[in-house]
Amino acid sequence: MQYSETLKKLPTYLFLKIEQKKKELLKKGIDIIDFGVGDPDLPTPKNIICAMGKAVEKPQNHRYPLGTGTPAFKEAIAQWYRKRFSVSLNPEKEILVLLGSKEGLGHLPLAFLNKGDLVLIPEPAYPVYRAGTILAGGIPYFLPLKAENNFLPDLKSISRKVAKRAKLLFLNYPNNPTASVASKEFFEKAVDFSRNNDIVVLHDAAYSEIYYEEKPLSFLQIEGAKGIGIEFGSLSKTYNMTGWRIGWACGSAEVLEGLARVKGNIDSGTFLAIQEAGVEALNGPQEATKEIRRTYEERRDILFSGLKKGGWELNKPSATFYLWARVPAGYTSEKMASILLEKSGILATPGSGFGPSGEGYLRFSLTIDKERIKEAIERLKKIKL
Ligand SMILES: *Cc1c(COP(=O)(O)O)cnc(C)c1O
Repeated sequence: MQYSETLKKLPTYLFLKIEQKKKELLKKGIDIIDFGVGDPDLPTPKNIICAMGKAVEKPQNHRYPLGTGTPAFKEAIAQWYRKRFSVSLNPEKEILVLLGSKEGLGHLPLAFLNKGDLVLIPEPAYPVYRAGTILAGGIPYFLPLKAENNFLPDLKSISRKVAKRAKLLFLNYPNNPTASVASKEFFEKAVDFSRNNDIVVLHDAAYSEIYYEEKPLSFLQIEGAKGIGIEFGSLSKTYNMTGWRIGWACGSAEVLEGLARVKGNIDSGTFLAIQEAGVEALNGPQEATKEIRRTYEERRDILFSGLKKGGWELNKPSATFYLWARVPAGYTSEKMASILLEKSGILATPGSGFGPSGEGYLRFSLTIDKERIKEAIERLKKIKL
């Protein structure tokens, strides 16, 4: 059997070496403190589970969902956008329900790319932007995210020639893996750049509700944004619902129409019961989300000060549940990740796995209990570098 040339261009698994090492150590009975995966460890809030329990009992929810999402869930998203961002959306045309935001991010390029078209993709980044581009026959054009630019892409550095050939621009703030947050000025520049070059902006806002000091902006709050792009939202991180597979895209009706046509041909919508539970998530009490933020904040403070005292160089993130730390001089990301794993059973993700500009960094995910984080700091103190 021969796999397609396209499939061969996709990475099999970014963190293969580290995962293999983890398996070996686990087999030997080593206790591993895993800062690797970006998947919340806490359960989905009770009120959402109750709503799901009721929704799943209803036979009318057992059939194909079809369409672009239920009116009730889309209305809940529109209300939430109005309340949280003062952005008004037409639920019928400007909101599209997804099987998790990753699904939409991955499929969107199929609606816009012809073979050989360029897609502007920041790196380091969540891998689906690149994968979706390649699957649609496009060519990724990477925009390095650097500390000196606050991990924002330098749009001025893109040549006219490249800009003219590019169809899409992916953005993601608050950012995974760098934990950086975008300013209003940056989003305004992105709108101008895209309008001037006829490029569609795809803003991934999966971490918009995982914030501490300041609430992140929506890309759609920028004047003109709705005319040139869409924003991807998700219940996954906000409500600990990564396994449920529900998200949405909102913004430009024309962009969404393209994505809806792709989806109409390959999936049949999001389980109606999950959409009903989604209404409860957005409209119900938000205490659980506040508690989730408090939990990550406490973990962040413990890990941040522990790493800082240990001589690591890093910024205190104001959003996301990641810490993006520079590895000590003289080591690569992978080398450092291996040392931590072998000497102390601490697993952190090598930044180079998210793209070449991630070299020299490690990503620590705050999705583990604070007692384990304290234990990790004690173990780190004992390593001699
Ligand atoms: C977790 C995450 C998502 C959310 O994906 P879902 O498919 O909605 O679960 C999207 N983008 C980034 C950058 C993420 O880290």
